[in-house]
Amino acid sequence: MGRAVKGEKATLAMTKGDLDRIRIDRTRIARSIDPVNRVYINKVEQIHAVDGIADGDSNQPRSTLANAMTVDVEDYFQVSAFEPHVDPGQWDSYPCRVERNVEIILELFDQHHARATFFTLGWVAERYPGLIRRIIENGHELASHGFSHVRVHDQNAALFRDDVKRAKALLEDTGGVAVRGYRAASFSIGQRTLWAFDVLAEEGYRYSSSIYPIRHDLYGMPDAPRFAFRPNPREAFIEVPITTLSLWGQNLPCGGGGYFRLLPYAVSRWALRQVNKTDGAPCIFYFHPWEIAPEQPRIPGVSLKTRFRHYLNLGRMQDRLAAVLRDFHWHRMDEIFLENKETAG
Ligand SMILES: [Zn+2]
Repeated sequence: MGRAVKGEKATLAMTKGDLDRIRIDRTRIARSIDPVNRVYINKVEQIHAVDGIADGDSNQPRSTLANAMTVDVEDYFQVSAFEPHVDPGQWDSYPCRVERNVEIILELFDQHHARATFFTLGWVAERYPGLIRRIIENGHELASHGFSHVRVHDQNAALFRDDVKRAKALLEDTGGVAVRGYRAASFSIGQRTLWAFDVLAEEGYRYSSSIYPIRHDLYGMPDAPRFAFRPNPREAFIEVPITTLSLWGQNLPCGGGGYFRLLPYAVSRWALRQVNKTDGAPCIFYFHPWEIAPEQPRIPGVSLKTRFRHYLNLGRMQDRLAAVLRDFHWHRMDEIFLENKETAG
């Protein structure tokens, strides 16, 4: 009996310890918002100067802030929502569309003088090394989306370390540039997986963009900071969350993905402008190459909700992307958020 009570106390103590750790993490995060905000606002001003854009120019319909355009380079059969229906061991048996779709995106970015960060899956880089080189030749930042698209909370720290290390080494060997940025599969860094930031910093990454501060059934950390922050204030490593608009006490998603396809473009544009204007902060926008390809092969057996989310308005995406590229200024994540560029490409 005594032993059992003792055991129970130990369990309770561990739970309390976990809670304390989480509280500490939250305090750390809250304390560290301001310094990073100042850093990127300075950087944004520098980018304005380089662009030579005058504020208040009536012929200039764009917002004058530099925003970050990002692409998660993976194919249609690799998305997390299809996991129950697609065996990663069979990925090679699916007809790949990623190379062709990224080529279209590179062309689109070129037409609009946009620069972007391509968070690329190691699996893709291994099969399409030429594509990796074209991303870099076009002036974009090569970053990591991990190797095998496993969500962080489905891995332990050792497996996660292997995955991000392998992806970084392969991308750097293929592209001949330093890879500093990381985005987790399905924004899977959240309250339970904050340890991932330490692993990323130890493996030589300089920033992550893996938190979506919204409420969502599959991902999200609604009480995370909305803007760039240092998970550990003693380290320079930063997390740059996907953009949300704070409205009626809630964070509304406006940084791309399914929401960008669902909402009328005018609503997305208004929300992004609000963040530039009201928060004075750059937006972080993301999409996937498969989102511009309405004719992609269908994955059989998926639920109605997943089908709706994945296939909705794919045919409208290219026009909407062209509009968002026209209406805002887009740059690489490293140009906006990192102190030293060290770019080799
Ligand atoms: Zn992904």
